Amino acid sequence: MSGIILTLNAGSSSIKFAVFEAGDAPSAPLIRGSIAGIGSTPVFAARGTGGTALDGRPFAALDASSSHDAAISLLLPWLSEQTGDDPLVAIGHRVVHGGRELTGPMRITPPVLNEIERLIPLAPLHQPHNVAAIRAVARWQPDVPQIACFDTSFHATQDRLAQLFALPRALSDEGIIRYGFHGLSYDYIASALPSHLAPGKDRVIVAHLGNGASMCAMRGGKSRATSMGFTALDGLMMGRRCGTLDPGVVLYLMQEKGMSAGEVATLLYKQSGLLGVSQLTNDMAVLEASADARAREAIELFCYRAASSLAGLVPAIGGLDAIVFTAGIGENSALVRDLICARLDWLGVLLSPSENTAGAARISAPASRVDVLVIPTNEEAVVADACRAILNGANCTSID
Ligand code: ADP
Repeated sequence: MSGIILTLNAGSSSIKFAVFEAGDAPSAPLIRGSIAGIGSTPVFAARGTGGTALDGRPFAALDASSSHDAAISLLLPWLSEQTGDDPLVAIGHRVVHGGRELTGPMRITPPVLNEIERLIPLAPLHQPHNVAAIRAVARWQPDVPQIACFDTSFHATQDRLAQLFALPRALSDEGIIRYGFHGLSYDYIASALPSHLAPGKDRVIVAHLGNGASMCAMRGGKSRATSMGFTALDGLMMGRRCGTLDPGVVLYLMQEKGMSAGEVATLLYKQSGLLGVSQLTNDMAVLEASADARAREAIELFCYRAASSLAGLVPAIGGLDAIVFTAGIGENSALVRDLICARLDWLGVLLSPSENTAGAARISAPASRVDVLVIPTNEEAVVADACRAILNGANCTSID
């Protein structure tokens, strides 16, 4: 098949995009870029093959009042200028929550979009922006098929016990269960694992450590348990999100301190995590460079909780053959990898300091019982592959 595929990952203040050939399946995109600062100071950046910076003059028209819709209205014509005669044959979206119904990549029809919108309360930080991008494309390029790929889908293989909260059964039956997120990233890592690990080493915990952070325990490349739950708030400490919290704290804040549900949501989603503990920033690289004791404490807490969470996932896979670090912090922070692994020596985890500092693909010492790897994630390639499969008529789940 000729033509190109556009992948979109719309967040609260940014749209990340990538462009792939539709016919071939290389994991490297032809173009990768982003429009950041939506709602404040929009900044466009894009690079073509070989890393050449691409001219984004049309995006100078964006200002603080420009919405996701305005950004996409400029992106689509810009893209056709870049790709010339090659037609756009599909647009694939990363969508954070698919709930119980949307369990695999699917073409976005009106019922699918309704279901994605119905799930907004479960991912209030992300899902509204995914919907905005889908609606903008439908407005500006209505004839191009849109395909949704869900961050929850990869975790549909979790054990039932890993999905259940210890809540009354009726609540679990209505869908208040642990879904898990970052599934596109885990899907990519699972596909890359066979080229990094000896056959038989299949009990792997992947640490996706970015602004959002989670871990996934895999066996045979399938999710068996994950640290995020019903929403993307659970599990690890994150850039601005608190991660696992005694639910009694929420009750206390509301009942004793008189905070509203909205105020508590803002506190837990936007004012906690690295930012809340350091009172400086949610940015790990900036914290590492800071001499402030609160910055160091935030990093230590992040790593302590990550190591605790990792150890807590081991029972789901009956042991541990490998740990994989990925995403912005996992791929780039030797300090974080070191602090996490140092707390896991009793599991047989031993880092090679020189390989870790160098950011090598394998950072465990030869004597380590557990392989420790760094694998850059590529969620866009997973979305592009799903688009190709659907365009080629693959059986895909749908709802009507
Ligand atoms: P998102 O979840 O927004 O996609 P990323 O995966 O891009 O996030 O990760 C962003 C995080 O990665 C930020 O906290 C950033 O500081 C961190 N990071 C990126 N490069 C480095 C680095 N060299 N050292 C430490 N942290 C880094």
